Amino acid sequence: MTIGTIFNIQKYAIHDGPGIRTTVFLKGCPLNCWWCHNPESQSIQQEILFSPDKCIGCGDCYKGCIGKAISSIQGQRIKDNNKCSLCGNCAINCPAEAIEMIGKTMTAEDLMKEIEKDRIFYEESGGGVTFSGGEPLMQSEFLHEVLHRCREVEIHTALDTSGYSSWEILSKISSHVELFLYDIKHMNDQKHMALTGVSNRPILDNLKKLVAEGKRIWIRVPIIPGINDDDQNIAEIGSLMDSLKLREIYLLPYHNIAMDKYRRLGKTYGLPDIQTPSDRCMNEIAQNLKSCGLKVRIGG
Ligand code: SF4
Ligand code: SF4
Repeated sequence: MTIGTIFNIQKYAIHDGPGIRTTVFLKGCPLNCWWCHNPESQSIQQEILFSPDKCIGCGDCYKGCIGKAISSIQGQRIKDNNKCSLCGNCAINCPAEAIEMIGKTMTAEDLMKEIEKDRIFYEESGGGVTFSGGEPLMQSEFLHEVLHRCREVEIHTALDTSGYSSWEILSKISSHVELFLYDIKHMNDQKHMALTGVSNRPILDNLKKLVAEGKRIWIRVPIIPGINDDDQNIAEIGSLMDSLKLREIYLLPYHNIAMDKYRRLGKTYGLPDIQTPSDRCMNEIAQNLKSCGLKVRIGG
């Protein structure tokens, strides 16, 4: 029985591939992008998210804490992560919903039951299921099994991926994926390493191999002002796509709505001062890419 760790299942998604889709978010990512808008996806482990603004100070979370990880010092709630066994009792006991357990384990069978519930929407809209994250390839065995089952019952499959994986894993998965939503963040390898913690070489190599296999691919680029929106980077992405005969690209404007999630997870946000790019800036980038013969869309 293959088990995966999932942090969200979004129904009726319309920005993660064609038609109406169910998007399944798997936990775990080998990248550490400064602008990550799903910081709760980065660790493959379950996590506890605490919202201090919701806490009413009742103390119910201390009582059920198996590991004695939570205590109160001068009325201040303190949690020692080293003692936390992730039992989830604090989240269950909290009457104010100030504590949330991020990530739950599911069997492939149970996930399929959830996916199949919306089959009628997939059929009527030309939709299906999209696996996102985190990086879904981090849970490759589980992903492979669910993809395989989806194809057996003729549900359309898309994979939203950074492409950062061994080719051995990706090639095994790719036969069950009908559409790749493939992220490109920066063409300059040194900058890519500084911004995400990993090299872009395996990502670009894997992209070329998927193209050689004839896979259907949409490129997705997060546009982050001052980070990757310069003319050179955009021109290099356009020229890479042209050389690979890829035509569809989605530009995703950066937003900082995840800042609060970082605070609640006790993590530091890497780009606190960057603003969402203006419509004008997004349209200029889109025009530059259109001039390379690409079909450009702004948004997911
Ligand atoms: S998850 Fe369990 S061990 Fe961790 S803080 Fe909550 S109650 Fe304590
Ligand atoms: S149970 Fe919830 S509301 Fe009560 S002290 Fe703990 S976190 Fe705060």
